[in-house]
Amino acid sequence: MFDLHVHAAPDIVERFDDDVDTVARYAAAGFTGCVLKAHYESTVGRAAAAARTQGIAVYGGLALNQHVGGLNPSAVAAALASGARVIWFPTADSHTQASAGLPRLCGVRAGLSTHTYALPPVDPTTEARVREIVALIAEADAVLATGHISTDEVAWLLPVARAAGVRRMLLTHPSYTVPAMSAARAREFTELGACAEITTFQLLHQDSVDAAALAAFAREVGLDRVVLTSDAGQVDSPSAPDALRLLVERLVAEGLDRGAVEACAAELPYRLTVN
Ligand SMILES: [Zn+2]
Repeated sequence: MFDLHVHAAPDIVERFDDDVDTVARYAAAGFTGCVLKAHYESTVGRAAAAARTQGIAVYGGLALNQHVGGLNPSAVAAALASGARVIWFPTADSHTQASAGLPRLCGVRAGLSTHTYALPPVDPTTEARVREIVALIAEADAVLATGHISTDEVAWLLPVARAAGVRRMLLTHPSYTVPAMSAARAREFTELGACAEITTFQLLHQDSVDAAALAAFAREVGLDRVVLTSDAGQVDSPSAPDALRLLVERLVAEGLDRGAVEACAAELPYRLTVN
């Protein structure tokens, strides 16, 4: 298996494990690799250091939040030149996160900026910067992940990315609270070449979501376009490998084909990230 989305310490909140222990757990569990994600730090150098400790693939990336000035092409260029495989559009500092009342950096201490970021059509003034970022992702053949931006912004972004030559596109947990995208819209976006992510975090922590709802979403999108990830790292979630295995088992128990579901947590995310 290959987990395209896991959080580890150090972070602005407490995490289940640090980078090295997270990677050791994947290696012990027979995983081929993972992508370390952080909302407020590049994981590129961290992934390279953690990869040295085990014989599995470990990749990093960059989320475009306040710590890099949001939609900042220079930050993206630096991350990609250093080996980033995934660029997440704004996550915890997306305008959707603020509207939904979900955790942000500004909640960590008083007085920090509450600025949020948006793409066209929500904030048309960012178009030139977003196009520059998209061109950099295309040139590096890296993964464009939509982050927490709204469905309207995704609908604007994906055709732009495709036209610019981006081959690897991931709808970041589309059925999560942010962006709360319908399966029908997600399916539409898969027709533009994107994959749709479903996470164990949703199964364990998203209000009014259960395995049946996630299985229905996966069915409607089509299992050939679904990527299963743990999004683990919370202190009250299982270890990341256990979390991803749990999601697989719960979806299989809902009647989805085991071989197809297992591919969504192995070949599909690996292919999307690497080759
Ligand atoms: Zn996450």
